[in-house]
Amino acid sequence: MSAAMQVGKHVIPDTKIIARILAKVRVDGECWFFSGATDEDGYPHIKFAGKRQCVHRLMAAVFIDDLNGWDVHHTCGNPSCVNPLHLKKADPEVHRTDHLKFANIPF
Ligand SMILES: [Zn+2]
Ligand SMILES: [Zn+2]
Repeated sequence: MSAAMQVGKHVIPDTKIIARILAKVRVDGECWFFSGATDEDGYPHIKFAGKRQCVHRLMAAVFIDDLNGWDVHHTCGNPSCVNPLHLKKADPEVHRTDHLKFANIPF
């Protein structure tokens, strides 16, 4: 069964996406590594609502908040981690500046 779910102003059209994501999660310590497809930068992707989407952004949209215009930062530094506890909404400008200051920290 699937149902729409509202998160802030963001509507997740089909909550089955969460089960699809979790089915591919490999827990290692505190991090939830996604074992599905990743892009060239190591960010997991999944096909959802007809397009390829970043898994960590979907998780953040579901478990944290509406992401309209916001970046998502990995506090654990693992780009393939999708644990919502390790994800943080970030102002895109501040986010970019922070990463330039600490150039070795992955987004
Ligand atoms: Zn993590
Ligand atoms: Zn970041």
